Amino acid sequence: MVGAGIVGASIGYHAARLGATVTIVDRTLPGAGATGESFAWIGATERAPGPGAALHAAATREYRRLAAELPAVHVRWAGSLQFGGRTPLGDLEPGRHRVDAGQIAALEPNLRTPPAAAVHVPGDGAVDPVATTDAMVAAARERGARLVPGTAVTGLRVVRGRVAGVETTSGFLEGGAVVLANGADVAVLCPSLGVARSPAILVRLAGPPDLVRTIVAIPDLDVRATGDGGLVAAVEYTGETSAAELARPRNAPAPDHRAVPRRDDVRVLGARVGMRPMPADGNPVIGPLPAVHGGYVAATHSGVTLAPAAGRLVAEELVHGVEAPELVSCRPR
Ligand SMILES: Cc1cc2nc3c(=O)[nH]c(=O)nc-3n(C[C@H](O)[C@H](O)[C@H](O)COP(=O)(O)OP(=O)(O)OC[C@H]3O[C@@H](n4cnc5c(N)ncnc54)[C@H](O)[C@@H]3O)c2cc1C
Repeated sequence: MVGAGIVGASIGYHAARLGATVTIVDRTLPGAGATGESFAWIGATERAPGPGAALHAAATREYRRLAAELPAVHVRWAGSLQFGGRTPLGDLEPGRHRVDAGQIAALEPNLRTPPAAAVHVPGDGAVDPVATTDAMVAAARERGARLVPGTAVTGLRVVRGRVAGVETTSGFLEGGAVVLANGADVAVLCPSLGVARSPAILVRLAGPPDLVRTIVAIPDLDVRATGDGGLVAAVEYTGETSAAELARPRNAPAPDHRAVPRRDDVRVLGARVGMRPMPADGNPVIGPLPAVHGGYVAATHSGVTLAPAAGRLVAEELVHGVEAPELVSCRPR
């Protein structure tokens, strides 16, 4: 396994659970990539039909299954409230409900300028993405997996068209199958997959408990409570401020007050840029590498939402050799 973000950790855990011999190699530490800067909203509904739809449909069910297996995985099923043009108010899919001003006030009593109508998705949740990753790595290790941190994979070693292992900064590591789960950096090892680096900003704030109760989403901004007295907000990165400048609280983007109440006791602690893996057509790229027997890739946006489902299905494909119908339309080709 190349990469110990939430996707690699999940594949590693599920493969170890099936009895596979697993080695997880990471350039730094588990959760240090996009996962560590993730807003970590688990979306219960996916509006756009497409290659990832079956994975999305399984996402919340798979989180409930994972949380039942691993007590260290805690999902905060607080639901989401979307308004201001973030999502259409009509023709709602199952699981999405239009709510009026009274219902909005009950769900989010502290909004400064509450809308007249919003979409409420009660099945949405959120996790601490690093704690979830750590829990899966720990569970993989309990089942015999080996974690090799601080080691970068520099390439695959391929012998007669078949993967023999990986070249790393600490030498060769043998493996009968290699999964590239190294997030946005999959493009470094395999540029032909067309996975781009897509920056986004995570702002950390401190505020009174219960100020924000659901996941509040308006165009270009998501905000939620973290459950430990903090708040996080995800903002699109436009590139005009460098990542180093953003780290200073005074340079962090001030969250839009339609979503975060303007209160003296809300303080911006800092902001960081995370590099999301973004497949060219927006669809997950999950499956065997073309032309390299034993090579496999798992790169997707919404990786926190999809990790439990993708991890279980990829592990079953690798260990049992049977194609998962949910993944058939996600292949690299
Ligand atoms: C601000 C922000 C908000 C987001 N919000 C959401 C959200 O609400 N919901 C959601 O589902 N998703 C969200 N995402 C996206 C989500 O975080 C990512 O899709 C997910 O974390 C990707 O996980 P990953 O394991 O594929 O990659 P990463 O977490 O990037 O992990 C890749 C790992 O590979 C390692 N690595 C890289 N190259 C090498 C190498 N050569 N050798 C060894 N190791 C290597 C890195 O050190 C890293 O640990 C958000 C992302 C950001 C930045």
